[in-house]
Amino acid sequence: MTSTTGVQALKELIEPERLLIDGSWVPSVEGASFPAIDPGTGEQVARVAEGSEADVDSAVAAARRSFDDARWLRLSGLQRSVILWRIAETLENRTDELAALESLDAGMPVSQARLMVGEAIDQFRYFAGWADKVEGKSVEIGPADMRFQGYTRKEAVGVAALIVPWNAPIVAIAQKLAPALAAGCSCVLKPSEEASLTALAVGRLVLDASLPPGVVNVVTGFGPRVGAPLAAHPGVDKVSFTGSTQVGRQIVQAAAGNLKKVSLELGGNSAMIVLPDADLDTVIPGVGIGIFWNSGQICTSGSRLFVHRDIADEVADGVAEFSRNLKVGYGADPDADLGPLISQRHLDRVNGYVESGIAAGARVVRGGRRIGDRGYFYEPTVVVDADPSMAMIREEIFGPVLGVMKFTDIDAAVAAANDTEYGLAGSVWTRDVARAHSIAHRLRASRIGINVHRAGGVQMPVGGYKQSGWGRENGAEALTEYLETKSVVTRLSD
Ligand code: NAD
Repeated sequence: MTSTTGVQALKELIEPERLLIDGSWVPSVEGASFPAIDPGTGEQVARVAEGSEADVDSAVAAARRSFDDARWLRLSGLQRSVILWRIAETLENRTDELAALESLDAGMPVSQARLMVGEAIDQFRYFAGWADKVEGKSVEIGPADMRFQGYTRKEAVGVAALIVPWNAPIVAIAQKLAPALAAGCSCVLKPSEEASLTALAVGRLVLDASLPPGVVNVVTGFGPRVGAPLAAHPGVDKVSFTGSTQVGRQIVQAAAGNLKKVSLELGGNSAMIVLPDADLDTVIPGVGIGIFWNSGQICTSGSRLFVHRDIADEVADGVAEFSRNLKVGYGADPDADLGPLISQRHLDRVNGYVESGIAAGARVVRGGRRIGDRGYFYEPTVVVDADPSMAMIREEIFGPVLGVMKFTDIDAAVAAANDTEYGLAGSVWTRDVARAHSIAHRLRASRIGINVHRAGGVQMPVGGYKQSGWGRENGAEALTEYLETKSVVTRLSD
């Protein structure tokens, strides 16, 4: 457990009210700033520079210069690999501070923040391994009397804009930054206005790890004033976005101006299907963690539970009981299992979904209320008699709320699980291995667990079917999101 407090970490890692541009910490052009709020208290813990289009212009120009003079790109893959590995070590040495900072800014318990920092470190180690394996292939072409030798090259796509959300900032940052740097790109990182601090800390630590200046720039601020001009900027070749499906659509439109490459990791509303033969000792905690981890503020959270009628009451009661043993508390509390929601606005949104479900005939068997009046804590909530027509089932709640629906026919349950505009994740719970795989294949989502929800390390791709996005993060496929393919052909003399 960390002994560093979030406030100490702030002092050690953050240049207050500064943006990182071209290796220097600079104030925003307008000199404005906005508060970083601790969601556990609702109080300001720091002030963050509020960027605008002029800052985006400077950051993109710095990234562009660093890409065009190839100060990063011209290093060999092995040299880039050494620096990526050093970034991993630099983050690892600062795990205590990073976890404390993430907990302070995003609210999650420090124990959980440490796991997320670990996941971020894994991303840099994994992509350090790829940096010298960016390879094309050799092809012989042409008729017998006019032979050509061709080869393909994989080249960095250029300047990449990386726009991330607030729910697990350091993971989202590393999922983009590590493959982008391995590919040789230069980057402008834009964190969420709800949780900007670890992006600034990572900006500082990559410099400590001797990444050349200008290769990573960080511009903090609000979506419309920083994210939108960044997504539209003609000096940006690629935008990698993680966030809501609604903003994802705006990114696509903004990117159309110079037809920049786009990858999108968007919303989810994942299903968990429990068959009657499932091992309930596995199901109950597994389903509980599947929905409640990070207070449900995870894109792959299992918010819709389809459970066979024969065991439905036992499972719903079991998950409710499991959740009673989860301690909801302040992030720095070493015993806390769950932290607050990110903001008052989000708390009202989550509660509104629960109330609309109740009004439509659903029944709360556990939770359904705010906890206290300081910070944005919400009870882990289990809602039964839910129905796919309810907004709380159809839309992404992004909170600690499980909607339970009974089924008798498995095919109908799979069809209902697929009846959503999202397609990020899912899980199936049964002792029947053949049936588990058959259902896993039929679920229209990119990451499926069997007797587990949301498993998979940095090696396993994740991304969106349907309106959950374009492209993949994690695994080798993530690297290809930051690469172009070039063909070079040579005419042979005879
Ligand atoms: P959001 O879409 O509101 O914001 C995401 C980022 O986009 C923020 O940095 C924000 O400032 C910026 N932004 C807002 N408006 C913009 C605009 N017009 N142009 C450019 N950028 C803009 O999302 P959020 O509330 O921060 O995060 C929660 C959402 O993220 C949920 O829908 C969740 O499912 C999704 N998410 C998806 C994944 C995934 O891997 N698929 C992972 C985490 C979160």
